[in-house]
Amino acid sequence: MSRWPHQSEVDNFYGNPRGNNGEPDSVWESQNIVYVSPPWKLVTSWSFEPVNSGVRVHKKCADSLNNIFLSIWASANKDVRVINEWGMHLYSGGYNFRLMRGSTSLSMHSWGCAIDFDSARNAFGDPNPNFARIPQVLDAFASEEWTWGGGWSKPDGMHWQAADI
Ligand SMILES: [Zn+2]
Repeated sequence: MSRWPHQSEVDNFYGNPRGNNGEPDSVWESQNIVYVSPPWKLVTSWSFEPVNSGVRVHKKCADSLNNIFLSIWASANKDVRVINEWGMHLYSGGYNFRLMRGSTSLSMHSWGCAIDFDSARNAFGDPNPNFARIPQVLDAFASEEWTWGGGWSKPDGMHWQAADI
C-alpha cells in the first residue's frame, strides 16, 4: 500500500475521465489535468520538439511529481548534461486518454497519473531498460511511492505511475 490508489480504484481517487463514444471527458480534463515543469528543458522523445508548457498530469499527483523532479535535479547536481545522459529530458508522454498496449482496458495515462521518459532506451518489453542503471531516478520516484514499470512481467521501463498494482 502507498498513498496512491490501487489500479482498480483510480476512478474513485482521480475521478472518471471517460466521456461519450470512447472520447475523453473534456470537462473532467479541464478540471483535473495540470502542467508540471521540471527545472530543466524537456523535448519530445519522438521529434525532439521543445515541451515548453511542461508535462500534463492529474492535480492530485502534481506536487509529488514536482518533488520527484526537484530530487532528480539535486541528484544531478543541477547539471543539465547529467539530466540529458539519464534521458530525463526526453518526454515520452503524460496524460493521454488511450487503451493499454495489447488490452481493452484504459491505460493509467488516461487518468493523468502516469508518465513516460526516454522511450527509445526504455522500450516496452525491454527487460534491460536504461533506467535500471540510474538509481538516482529510480529512487526519486520510489521515495514518492510511484510504481516503475521496468520490473513488470511485460517490462515498461519508460513508465512510472502514481497507482499501485
Ligand atoms: Zn506509460
